[in-house]
Formats: sequence, structure tokens, C-alpha cells
Amino acid sequence: MSIEKVDTLVVGAGQAGIALSEHLSNNGVPHLVLEKNRVAEAWRTGRWDSLVANGPAWHDRFPNLEFEGTDPEAFPGKERVADYLNDYATMIKAPIRTGVEVTKAERIEGRQGFTVETSDGVIEANNVVAATGAFQHPVIPPVVPQDAPVEQIHSFYYRNPDQLPEGAVLVVGAGSSGAQIADELNRAGRKTYLSVGPHDRPPRMYRGRDFVWWLGVLGLWDVAALKPGTEHVTISVSGAYGGQTMDFRRLGNEGVNLVGLTEAYTDGKLTFAGDLQTNVANGDANYLQMLDLADAYVERNGLDLAEEPQARVAFADPDCLSNPIREVDLAEAGITSIIWATGFRQDFSWMKVDAFDERGAPKHQRGVSKEPGIYFLGLPWQSRRGSTFIWGVWHDAKHIADQIGIQQMYRQYRGPQDQAVTAAE
Ligand SMILES: Cc1cc2nc3c(=O)[nH]c(=O)nc-3n(C[C@H](O)[C@H](O)[C@H](O)COP(=O)(O)OP(=O)(O)OC[C@H]3O[C@@H](n4cnc5c(N)ncnc54)[C@H](O)[C@@H]3O)c2cc1C
Repeated sequence: MSIEKVDTLVVGAGQAGIALSEHLSNNGVPHLVLEKNRVAEAWRTGRWDSLVANGPAWHDRFPNLEFEGTDPEAFPGKERVADYLNDYATMIKAPIRTGVEVTKAERIEGRQGFTVETSDGVIEANNVVAATGAFQHPVIPPVVPQDAPVEQIHSFYYRNPDQLPEGAVLVVGAGSSGAQIADELNRAGRKTYLSVGPHDRPPRMYRGRDFVWWLGVLGLWDVAALKPGTEHVTISVSGAYGGQTMDFRRLGNEGVNLVGLTEAYTDGKLTFAGDLQTNVANGDANYLQMLDLADAYVERNGLDLAEEPQARVAFADPDCLSNPIREVDLAEAGITSIIWATGFRQDFSWMKVDAFDERGAPKHQRGVSKEPGIYFLGLPWQSRRGSTFIWGVWHDAKHIADQIGIQQMYRQYRGPQDQAVTAAE
């Protein structure tokens, strides 16, 4: 049986795999992209119905194609983002094979390369790039037992308010997903509780510029990596309803019951940590710091951007923030469902290679792993804060394609000694 051979095999045709394909083609590296579902599947089926991009169309895109027919200041819906990525793959003629799952990759002993098992046969590749995404498997912390009398789903499976049983809802997690879902449920007339942990919450707009612009000019998307000892803090932003600052006081005043971190469950009762006011205060501090940095930038560069003092005027504290509840009886509160917006884990179990630490996390430098020929793309903080975002992954992809190209150049080198051997043969 003949085995298909390819120089570089890219696993996953989300934004990461597509961006890499463009750079590999530019570098003349023959490659193949395998995708187990459809191109940009996560944007089609891994997101709720009303989701729009968190950044405006002028920003959340690759450099070489605009969102045609979309107002650059608007926030494209999830299907539009998926179509955009599909169009992009077509435009660059990315060699993508869909409906093919990669099940195993292992090093070939005694020579360069990897044997890759797929649902459609075996492939040999000099390089394998895992572009399988940062948000693969939903994670629900083990707080409420599965047999508790309440429906529990992860935000990954949330679609719209009608999908939930009648009654009140607790949303756990106040990153962009949790905050947006709680906002939607509250607007739909559901009694909603939102469990708020640590978060950053930049202003959506300030002095006429979107926060994506401020993070850009202030160099904050490009922050290289987390400082040792600092925790990743989620950014809570939203492009929904035309784009509004995610403000937990506003949500509280509109009827969302804010609570602290969800801590424990016993006999139908949930308890919350006493950290709600601290978490909201830290989010406020982050918001105000952004305004200060923006003001300083305007002044230093003499920009003509109108002052916006009202951005510093806070909403009144809602009662749930002044007097946070620490316990809720699910039955008494009528809570029939819990949505866990608590993040994801990655799965590299198909990679039987020496590229992981003892916890199973990729060991790499900007996506170049310690196992020669194995690369990662789309990891959180792969090189910078922007690494998992559409525009950010494009720059990481360029680095990976350049590294693969450099290795290819060395591999193809033939010196005088090699020529002498060839001549003698
Ligand atoms: C709710 C939510 C909203 C987001 N909104 C934005 C936003 O507005 N703007 C922004 O810039 N970013 C946003 N992001 C972040 C990021 O852009 C997306 O998560 C994006 O989908 C990541 O792209 P990716 O290519 O790294 O991974 P994915 O899109 O997950 O693509 C990976 C692909 O690999 C495939 N795959 C996995 N394993 C295998 C295998 N073994 N064999 C073959 N194929 C495999 C999967 O089917 C998938 O299609 C958001 C993320 C989430 C969760």
C-alpha cells in the first residue's frame, strides 16, 4: 500500500490553520490541511445563535481581506465570520481536506518525519502543526453533582434562552461568554444570576475609538506573555447590541443578580465566595486604568480626540452589589438551569511525541516545540495576548511558517561532500 507523503501537515482548518496555509504557500512549503469537520466549524456550531464578533469588522480579520459588504465598524455575526474564513481559504487556494480526523502522529524512528494516522488513511509528513484551537473541550468545575435537580450545560452548548427549561438561570463566569449570555437571558425576561470572578473590562469606546484600537496603540495586544506568578484574567467585552462596555453595575441595575464565585453545593443550596465587591472593584480599576492610559496617549501624541469625562461616571451600585448574597436555595429561587461559562481545555492526546511537559501542556517557544518538526498554533498567549484572536494568530502563523521554511532550507542543503558522493555513485 502506498503511503501519501507531504512536507507539512496542518491539523485543523479554523483561523489558525488557514492563516498558516497562507504563509506556508508564500514560503513555498508544500502542505496539506486536514479538518475533521468543516472549515471554521467552531464559528458555525460551537457558539450561541446571537454571537457577534467581539471586535469590529475592520479589526477582527486577516490583513489581506476585508469583510466585504459589512460596515467596518459593525460586529459581524458568527455565520458571517465563518463565511469570511471560508472565503479566505478559497482566496488563498488553501489545500484543505475536510471531514478527515487525525487520530495519531508519531515520530518515524531513524529518520526525519512523522507517521500520521487519519480517518482516511496514513500520511507521512516532515512537519506536523497542531492548529486545533485553544477552546476545544468545555470544562465544568466539579461543584454541582450531575444528579442535582438542575439542568447544567457549558456555554459551548448554549444556543438561546428558549432552549432552557422555564425558570431562573445561574450563569457561572463573567468573561465575555458568561457576561453576554447573562445579558441575553435577562433581556429575554429570565430571572438571571451571574457569578462574577476576576476580570478585565476595557471600555468598548473611549474618545471615539474602539478598545481594540486602544489596546493596539498602547501595545497591550502585544504584551509578550504573562508575568510569572500572575494569573490569566479574562477580558469581558461584547459586540452585542451594537457594542457596549461590559459594566456589571449596569447589568445589576437592569435586573441581573450578581453574586461572587460559585463555591459549593450542598442539599440544593449553592454558596458563593465573598469576593463579588473585590472582583467588581478590580474590574473598575482596570477600566479606569485604560482611560488613564488612553488620556496620556492622546496628550503625548497631540491627538484631536474629544475628551469624554462622562466615561468616568459610574452607575449607582445595585443592591446585589451593596449587599451580596452568599447563598441561594435553588428551589426557592426557582433556578432550573446553570450555564457554566468556565472555559476550555485542549486535547493533544493524538500527538505521541516528546513535546509536552509533565502536565501534558505543550513545551514550546512561540509555537516551535522541543520535538523537531512539531509545531503549535493558536495557543493562548502563544507569543502575545493577541495569539488566540483572528488578527493575532495570523502573525504567529507567519513565525511558524518562517521557522518551517528555515528548517526546510537547511534540510535541502547539499554541500561539496554530498555532490562528491553523488558523483561517485
Ligand atoms: C465564544 C467565543 C467567541 C470568540 N469571539 C472572538 C472574536 O470575536 N474575535 C476573535 O478574534 N476571536 C474570538 N474568539 C477566539 C478565537 O478567534 C476562536 O476561538 C477561534 O475559533 C480559534 O481559532 P483556531 O483556528 O485556533 O481554532 P478552531 O476554530 O477551534 O479550529 C480548530 C479546528 O481544528 C479541528 N480539529 C481539532 N482536532 C482535530 C483533529 N484531530 N483532526 C482534524 N481536525 C481537528 C476542529 O474541528 C476545528 O475546526 C472567540 C472564542 C470563543 C470561544
